[in-house]
Amino acid sequence: MPRTPSICHLIQWPEQSEASDTYSVIDPAHLKPVASVPDMDTPDVKQAISLAHTAQKHWARKTARERATVLHKWYQLCMHNQSDLAKIMTIECGKPLAESMGEVAYGSSFLRWFAEEASRAYGDVIPENAKGRRLLAIKQPVGVVAAITPWNFPNAMIARKVAPAIAAGCSIIVKPSAETPLSALAMAYLGEEAGLPPGVFNVVTASKGSAKRIGNEMTENALVRKITFTGSTAVGKLLSKQAASTMKKVSMELGGNAPFIVFDDADIDAAVTGCIASKFRNTGQTCVCANRVFVHSKIYDTFAAKLSAKIREMEVGHGLEPGNQFGPLITSDAFDKVVRHVEDAVGKGAKVLLGGKPHGLGGNFYEPTVLTGVTNEMLLAREETFGPVAGLIRFETESEVTKAANDTPFGLAAYFYTKDAGRIFRLSEALEYGIVGVNEGIVSTEVAPFGGIKESGLGREGSKYGMDDYMEIKYICIGGIKETLDA
Ligand code: ADP
Repeated sequence: MPRTPSICHLIQWPEQSEASDTYSVIDPAHLKPVASVPDMDTPDVKQAISLAHTAQKHWARKTARERATVLHKWYQLCMHNQSDLAKIMTIECGKPLAESMGEVAYGSSFLRWFAEEASRAYGDVIPENAKGRRLLAIKQPVGVVAAITPWNFPNAMIARKVAPAIAAGCSIIVKPSAETPLSALAMAYLGEEAGLPPGVFNVVTASKGSAKRIGNEMTENALVRKITFTGSTAVGKLLSKQAASTMKKVSMELGGNAPFIVFDDADIDAAVTGCIASKFRNTGQTCVCANRVFVHSKIYDTFAAKLSAKIREMEVGHGLEPGNQFGPLITSDAFDKVVRHVEDAVGKGAKVLLGGKPHGLGGNFYEPTVLTGVTNEMLLAREETFGPVAGLIRFETESEVTKAANDTPFGLAAYFYTKDAGRIFRLSEALEYGIVGVNEGIVSTEVAPFGGIKESGLGREGSKYGMDDYMEIKYICIGGIKETLDA
């Protein structure tokens, strides 16, 4: 049978494949294989791109309403299968089931949102600059899109790219993270059920070792007109460089180093709740996770005590077991990074208020941790920890904390808690970040623009701006128009 990386064939791939290469998907809680998927390589991506190129021409000719109908149906099917999609997600990425349910709803909301936006990709009629001319600006799909996505949101990071691409009339090839291909395949299966024509949404599964070669093909193949990536800044820079060889449109949603600032006039209980939501969601493995928790010295001890008390009540374990709010870290590398960051902080004078060591469950489980006496010089404050560790940094003044908060090459999300209305505006404007949460720890929604500045990336996902990244503006100048009636 020919190898066709379109969605329908992919689901049955192992029987149809000419190649015997597969790799195992590991449950990070039990560290046991749960499935095996094709380990695709350059020829598969080439073929997927070629199929996507043909499919895109037909898809772009559909009316916006026709594309929206498929996206709506896909949304409904995802929500109808929410618990199955959530279970698959928890098994492959370890997040607690309640969080997986939430992610499926969040991811699906992009399918609905961009179904609605499809019909609103308006252009402009521009007042002419000279007699006898008419000027138009129309929006058209960029063409074939390639997407590379991470493991921490195995559904939503795909939906956030695929929905606007498909709404705009593009086709798309997604390479999900090696750790979490199953959520991508499940989405693709439902997309096919919803009526996506073959070749419009393609999934290329690949092991860690094949990622670089697949990235090369996606960025250098001239048929691909846009590359969209969510992941680390290092890989984002590499892909941007590669994409420059064919001058592709690029969107990059990269790493962060989010400050979470609690002023002395804040509602401390609300700040504790927000900090737990922001810092510890997905066991601290999100790009918008609070990474540096700045607490005003007047409330520092109270905040630290309340935060630790709340976290102490939360359960750690397999995400499928009810009641667990913390899962494992995704891999042993992720686990080692957390160990290294805590050791570095403690070595430089930080105190362990809670946790601070591997969890008794073993494997990739690490104890939810609160450290006090953290300073901006520690690794914990310089790099994304991507784990369940809150390092509390003491501050005295608004100007001092603003300077410290901005003292990073990253600029994705920032949070602060205060009741001072003037400060809300002042600080929201002064923080060099693409997203600012004020008295809120979770801010992501399909209706608002998501994305970073500085080394946290380029472009915005979601919202009324989200489709622009998948469209080109074409200017049409019509001349030779006689201006007098009956001329
Ligand atoms: P993380 O450390 O969070 O996994 P990465 O940036 O390493 O972040 O990975 C995000 C995505 O990028 C994954 O799908 C991964 O397979 C892919 N990836 C990693 N390295 C490369 C590369 N050199 N070229 C293309 N894709 C890559």
